[in-house]
Amino acid sequence: QQVAQLQQLPPDTMPVLKARLFANENPHGIAPSAKAALEKATTLGNRYAWMEFAQLKKLIADAEGVTPKQIMMSPGSSDVLMATAAAFSQRGPILTCRPTYDDLLERATAAKGQILTVPSTADMGYDLAALKAKALSTPGLGLVYIVNPNNPTGTIVPPAELAQFCRDVAPTVPILIDEAYIDFLEPADRPVLGKLVGEGLNIMLARTFSKIHGFAGLRLGYVMAQPNMLAQIKPYTNGEFAVSITTLMAGIASYQDQAWQTFCRTENAKARDYTTKALKEIGYEPIPSYANFILFPIKMKTKLFEGQMFGQGVGIQTRDIDRQPYCRVSIGTMDEMKTFVDAFKKVVG
Ligand code: PLP
Repeated sequence: QQVAQLQQLPPDTMPVLKARLFANENPHGIAPSAKAALEKATTLGNRYAWMEFAQLKKLIADAEGVTPKQIMMSPGSSDVLMATAAAFSQRGPILTCRPTYDDLLERATAAKGQILTVPSTADMGYDLAALKAKALSTPGLGLVYIVNPNNPTGTIVPPAELAQFCRDVAPTVPILIDEAYIDFLEPADRPVLGKLVGEGLNIMLARTFSKIHGFAGLRLGYVMAQPNMLAQIKPYTNGEFAVSITTLMAGIASYQDQAWQTFCRTENAKARDYTTKALKEIGYEPIPSYANFILFPIKMKTKLFEGQMFGQGVGIQTRDIDRQPYCRVSIGTMDEMKTFVDAFKKVVG
């Protein structure tokens, strides 16, 4: 509600917030290397991107163990999620675990598709065992949708279990794994599912530059899948040319800028630890998060809490899960998180 009101304001009034922690954005901005590439790219604005797609796909393919033909670029990953919802909900119900990221599910519902869910685990994670049992016992499913790390909970499933799940289920039902927040995991802790695409499994991996790369406004994402799956969703996308040459060139720079990604990941972990600790000290129980946001139960009604936090200049999101009100706060800079904690203490007394 508060965010909807903000959307009515002229753009330059948005920074009126002291801490903008409602959209899981990167508070550090884009990498200096990406900025330099953007500036260089301004003189190419009259050209269609050709080689740039090939260049970025080659970088991704080499890093992920897929071929360039198994990659489709998109303006953020939303376009891919929407297209997948449209294409696969026509074939049968979409199976997932709630609470999770709702955009794909809402689009599928709007397209008259059916959503089936299994409850999350006691610690609010994806229940892979329950999902597998349901996926293999429900004839005619269209798709299994998994968000890992999950939004809004910040939970992850163990990488080896996820890989096994894919091997067990994908021969029967295609799986889309939304890995928007994967870059916030230490590289050693990440599931390495690209090689399963490389092996020919029917899984789709959706990625975005919106989070660790800070491209939420620039719009860049991609999906890795078998070429025949990409062909099925392609008619429902806006096409790869929806990605501008400027964004692509910045993306090529940012993708190779490991130092910037490490910086953002490390700063995120520090500010997340600080916030988790501060909340615990005043009697709140955040769900352990592996992403750039934290979800925790609150003791006030959602809209009242949200309104009062915005009143303090701190933008957050709220939602009810099983009738329990929760706050989801994105991880900003350390200063922003201190502002959040101060405002939170004032609001909850
Ligand atoms: N997937 C998840 C889980 C998200 O949380 C988001 C955005 O917050 C997206 C996908 C879409 O992001 P974008 O379209 O910017 O890539």
